[in-house]
Amino acid sequence: MTPGTVYLVGAGPGDPGLLTVRAAELIASADVILHDRLIPAEALAGARPDAEVRYVGKQGGGRQVPQEETHRLLIERARAGRTVVRLKGGDPFVFGRGGEEALACLDAGIPFEVVPGVTAGVAAPAYAGIPVTHRELASGVAFITGHEDPAKPDASLDWPALAAFPGTLVFYMGVRTLPRIAAQLVAGGRAADEPVAVVERGTLPGQRTLLATLGDVAQRAAAERIEAPAITVVGPVAGLREQLAWLERRPLHGRTIAVTRARPQASALAARLRELGAAVVEAPAIQTRSLDQELPDLAAYDLVCVTSPNGAHALFERLDDARALAGATVAAIGPGTARALAEHGIRADVVPERAVAEGLVDALAGIAVRRALLVRAREGRDMLPDALRGRGAEVDVLALYETVAEPLDEDTARAAATADYVTFTSASTVRYFLDAAGELDGPRIASIGPATSAALREAGVEPNLEAEPHTPDGLVEALIEDARLR
Ligand code: SAH
Repeated sequence: MTPGTVYLVGAGPGDPGLLTVRAAELIASADVILHDRLIPAEALAGARPDAEVRYVGKQGGGRQVPQEETHRLLIERARAGRTVVRLKGGDPFVFGRGGEEALACLDAGIPFEVVPGVTAGVAAPAYAGIPVTHRELASGVAFITGHEDPAKPDASLDWPALAAFPGTLVFYMGVRTLPRIAAQLVAGGRAADEPVAVVERGTLPGQRTLLATLGDVAQRAAAERIEAPAITVVGPVAGLREQLAWLERRPLHGRTIAVTRARPQASALAARLRELGAAVVEAPAIQTRSLDQELPDLAAYDLVCVTSPNGAHALFERLDDARALAGATVAAIGPGTARALAEHGIRADVVPERAVAEGLVDALAGIAVRRALLVRAREGRDMLPDALRGRGAEVDVLALYETVAEPLDEDTARAAATADYVTFTSASTVRYFLDAAGELDGPRIASIGPATSAALREAGVEPNLEAEPHTPDGLVEALIEDARLR
């Protein structure tokens, strides 16, 4: 980034995945970020902790920060030699006042750059299964403002010309003016049975689409309480939704799923669930804390067992040469742990079919063990060391981290407790989540495996589904299967 420059950046329509690579790069390095309301909530997560992040949109849905004030801030911060990102929903040059801000920079002699974004008028229809052009149905598309703001009269729109436009009409800011839009287009000669789609909260969790006709759209949108932000698409392409709606067909569409595992592990599971259509509540009930514990001489062991991905990473934090493990058989409790070891260049010799301590004991049955090292959390089960000792091995348990409660704020705890599903991936997530969330209000309970299910039952909660295999992937499969049946 160049100091003293203003970057007019589009943040896309809401799905954080639709933020461009360039936008993410600029957000991550900006000194100052001035943003609107309609940007993905996650977009600012990548900002520098010391960046000045300031909201310049409508305050609490009320008064707008005056445009001159925004211009003044942009110019003042840039003059002070700072890198300034002006972050807007969708594309900055599509109904975003980006043009005005670029002109203000030009007037002030401030250099600026523009980073286009995915605009809602294309993205919301796309997520609703509507292509805005189609070789046979629409050879053009017009982007039009519906003038949501009653202070701005829509007399500037040439309705007869819009009605005559040979292509798709896409209205931004047109929820309140929907009755007028539909009536004017019919008055201008469009057929009352022409398809119209209204896409509310496009690309966001909870996206809703109403497919209607010019004749009945106003009344049906009112009946279904469609609210801003929404995009209205008028034209035969809207009807393609009947065949092309893909979002709603994803297996976990419309399901809210709480993920209770520790933040670093939660993200992969949450991302997978979102991909499948779920709205995810990240409610990490636990966090892991490294213990001040050195490694013994690994050459003394002929077996090293690692019982969690965390354990694998904790081991390598303390090990600067993987060859220290050269002499030992390395066992991982499951595929996740094996993957974590592989990230550090170690391929596990033993990975049981069933990812539980019992499975590992079975898998080690044919292997002679004199002295074993068990790498794990402080609060692990004794099943594995006891079984190995029972076979005459000397066993050292090395606790490299501990699991402690992660405080849950009330809103998150509530959102998790009222989700369609709550997922538990370890006994400690059960214990700490139930402590934090209190009463569960009807969610189905998904457990990753028998040890977690046992912890649930001990707490008086009967799991509705248990993963097989006992892995995050198994858990996702079990959720899909359960959701399919209900
Ligand atoms: N610059 C933005 C548009 C800003 S105007 C862009 O390029 O997308 C604000 C209007 O955009 C809203 O009133 C609504 O009509 C539309 N809009 C923005 N985000 C939307 C979303 N996620 N779903 C549907 N419409 C959206």
